[in-house]
Amino acid sequence: MRTVSRPIALACLLATMGCPEPDGELVNDEPTFAEQITESALMDHLTSLQAIADANDGNRMFLSGGYLDSVDYIVQQLEDAGLEPVVETFDMEEYTLNTAEVQVNGEPPAGLEDINFSVFELSGQGTVTAPLSAVSVTIPPSGGANSTDSGCESADFDGFPAGNIALIQRGTCTFVQKVDNAVAAGASAVVIFNEGQQGRRDVVEGQLDGGIASIPVIGVSYGTGRAMVEAANLQLTIAIDATISVTTDRNIIVDLPGGDPARTVLVGAHLDGVEAGPGINDNGSGSAFLLELAIQMQDQGIDPTNHVRLAWWGAEEEGLIGSSRYFYDDNGEPNDANLSTLDAYLNFDMLASGNGVRMVYDGDGSDFDDGVDSDGSALIEEMFEAYFDEQGLATRPEALLISSDSYWPALLGIPTGGLFSGAFQPKTDSEEDDFGGDEGTAHDPCYHQACDTIGNTNPVLYEELAQAGASVIVDLAMREEAFPSGNTRRSTRDLPKPRGCHDHTVWDR
Ligand SMILES: [Zn+2]
Repeated sequence: MRTVSRPIALACLLATMGCPEPDGELVNDEPTFAEQITESALMDHLTSLQAIADANDGNRMFLSGGYLDSVDYIVQQLEDAGLEPVVETFDMEEYTLNTAEVQVNGEPPAGLEDINFSVFELSGQGTVTAPLSAVSVTIPPSGGANSTDSGCESADFDGFPAGNIALIQRGTCTFVQKVDNAVAAGASAVVIFNEGQQGRRDVVEGQLDGGIASIPVIGVSYGTGRAMVEAANLQLTIAIDATISVTTDRNIIVDLPGGDPARTVLVGAHLDGVEAGPGINDNGSGSAFLLELAIQMQDQGIDPTNHVRLAWWGAEEEGLIGSSRYFYDDNGEPNDANLSTLDAYLNFDMLASGNGVRMVYDGDGSDFDDGVDSDGSALIEEMFEAYFDEQGLATRPEALLISSDSYWPALLGIPTGGLFSGAFQPKTDSEEDDFGGDEGTAHDPCYHQACDTIGNTNPVLYEELAQAGASVIVDLAMREEAFPSGNTRRSTRDLPKPRGCHDHTVWDR
């Protein structure tokens, strides 16, 4: 079933373009709106972002000169198009680990003479000396990865002596859930050891979301953890010295003219990159698409039914931070001021992957059972599919709960969709059949590397995805009918780890 108005229906609204005769024939072959988004304009913006990275130590990472220059470029271009962008600042904590020490008090048992460990990112700091108490560990693990659930339930801590260090095994739930339960049980620090199966035996490393933990959290290998479990009356000293500073970062928001503000379509792309490289595909590509979309909607004088707002998010690569500050308030509660008028969110993160494919976020949950499918998200997916069908272009689904800025609106029950051309995953045999390129090579062979330059991009794929995005966004902007509803709100703790795009470790378990 097609519920989608076709690009021609939009073109008809534009004074400069052809309209169908009653028999459905075009009176001329003026381009559709989507065709106004051209490869050359997109690549010009990428050239500018490349020059910005080149002038700033080769990157555009959060809080860097390259990021600030990227913000200036987008703002200037929007202003030149007659728009009024707003740079919204937000605070973010920057965590720097200075020193860390872990030692056994007294004579160390065999295997614990010299403890190799990691400090979890966002670990609390301080010096703790206390006995260790193992929390429902399974040694050896009796099943595959994520078969043990040490510390996942508060009941695991029944009888836990407050003030002790909790010794917890990796598996099943997120690190942060284990740490939260340990804090609630009065633990003075947490040692997380690897689960023990093949591939899960090294020193475990991780990151804690939800801000800085109140107690030190370190990771050790399975072997070290097992030795700690087996040692009697073990006391540890854990000393973590970290500096936490509050800094200010930026999102850019622009409201396109017109449309009912009570029915807003929000389109987002993260503007920041990683430290390793210029971030031209990830995510100069999504950023430049949004910019060109804004310019062309202005140029073509599109007068939408629904309001269109565009957002360039900061600090996505640090854990989806800029977008989280839009969707949540200062207390971490859903920001209803921004959410109540939001009919749909579309995300564009990596559109020009060198060995890429055309991926559409799976809104109806038919391919990825992420627990966030809805009628609204299904409609967006269907609109993308209808567009690509008409163009004769193959697609494949990608999880809606991808690790990108769309994670928050999907969680918050907003109809969500988007496009993606692939990151570090190798191209499969069937993808090579459908999309060309090289089987076995990553969709983006330069993902998060110094070589994510303009030479890393696939301009043809980029234009295809950008035009698909433009077509669906304008169709949504012109939509008269009420928008189908989204999913019910979910909490971050009751969902599986997001898949795909960015390999944030925030959700690892
Ligand atoms: Zn990205």
